[in-house]
Amino acid sequence: MSKYNSLKFLKETKARISHICDGCGEEIKKSEIYYPESIGRVNAPGIKLKKFCYKCSKKLLNEKITN
Ligand SMILES: [Zn+2]
Repeated sequence: MSKYNSLKFLKETKARISHICDGCGEEIKKSEIYYPESIGRVNAPGIKLKKFCYKCSKKLLNEKITN
């Protein structure tokens, strides 16, 4: 699992359907910008990728910088 965690990044995406943010639980509405985790071209069945709203993605990115 950890070998995939290092490959994860947040990919800016326009919502085609509504989603629930995995950070705060708020709804991401259709056509809003949100940030799903992505591992690029790696095919990893069973891996759980989270989705984050704009606010939570900024928080996560700030944490990464300050750590
Ligand atoms: Zn959120």
